[in-house]
Amino acid sequence: MSGFLYISNMKKILIFLFLIPQILLAQNNWCGTVNKMLANPATEKEQNLMQKIRTNITNNSSNKNQDSLLIIPTVVHIIHTNGIGDISDLQVHDGMRVINEDFRRTNADTINGNPIFYPFAADCKIEFRLAKLDPNGDSTSGITRTDTALYPHPEPTDPAFDNVKYAINWPPHMYFNIWVVRHILAGTSGYSQYPGTAFTYGGPWETYGVVIRSYEWGTIGTSSSDGRVATHELGHCLGLYHTFLSYSATCGAECDTTGDQVCDTPPTLPTNGCNTANQCSNDMMGPSPFTQDMTDQLENYMSYNSCQNMFSLGQKDRMRGFLTTLDTLNGLYLDNNLIATGLMQPTVITELSINENRKLLKIVDVLGRETTNKKNMPLFYLYDDGSIEKKIIVE
Ligand SMILES: [Zn+2]
Repeated sequence: MSGFLYISNMKKILIFLFLIPQILLAQNNWCGTVNKMLANPATEKEQNLMQKIRTNITNNSSNKNQDSLLIIPTVVHIIHTNGIGDISDLQVHDGMRVINEDFRRTNADTINGNPIFYPFAADCKIEFRLAKLDPNGDSTSGITRTDTALYPHPEPTDPAFDNVKYAINWPPHMYFNIWVVRHILAGTSGYSQYPGTAFTYGGPWETYGVVIRSYEWGTIGTSSSDGRVATHELGHCLGLYHTFLSYSATCGAECDTTGDQVCDTPPTLPTNGCNTANQCSNDMMGPSPFTQDMTDQLENYMSYNSCQNMFSLGQKDRMRGFLTTLDTLNGLYLDNNLIATGLMQPTVITELSINENRKLLKIVDVLGRETTNKKNMPLFYLYDDGSIEKKIIVE
């Protein structure tokens, strides 16, 4: 007998390439490693991909029709040791509330920012929602719990860098993975991996996502924070650099090619304070929206300051540029994936039509590995018309 779970029609599926992960560390809003996605000099592959992303960034910012809400199915993996480090579902939900308020700019503290930046503050129109169906098509809370003695280490060269990620991860072309851990070695609060396997500091897709300490997640239960390390780390995962890009410790030059490459976040230098400052005077170089030298945007989530409360419009366009360009990410928010992850009613399936002339290209498992027609496990069937079927052949 054969069981047919559902059909999805995602454009592409994930590609796994080489393991060259990069981390971004945050400790009390401090990231220890601040390298860039592109090596210097960048490879041709990196340059080409970045050019594609830039084109989509421009399209996103110039075409208001592309300002639609992007819903990202999300799974929170709680990594605990015999209950130590475990957090309640309620705390998981509270952490989701914080990141979504920040990404939608419905956070209560927007009025604490410098009014000069109000016109540049963005509702990113991105929402992270806990999945309701797991990779097998079964009902889920979008929260998993794994009992293990593993601690992750934030250094990419350390063998423990990806240990909890390999302990459990859900297919990254369907779910955004967040690992909430009891402890991170080297005293780090959280770290992320840049998107894209082609980038020097990207990495394999199954390790893509955010690792964060449990007491930085949400504002209730075991949390001792405002939950915004997660907001910051999610920004990195969607292609954002720090506003100060401390690796260079200079103000850079033109706003679109130096610094954080976002023009409405004034160039600045590393700072840990919330006192008004103006560390760079090249704010108007390049395609800048500013007509005067601005003070530093201390309230930006991608700074290290504790007075964070905004992403900028330019950061929004950049994040949406990455989301809509990269093959693994640009299926996440599509209707068929929202159906597959239980976030949209499956009646939409009836709108999909199957092309009878299509040819099967290959079969891959949930981790994107090519495989044969195995029984009793969910597999993805990729066809030459770009459609994908997810099936389990049950014996
Ligand atoms: Zn950071």
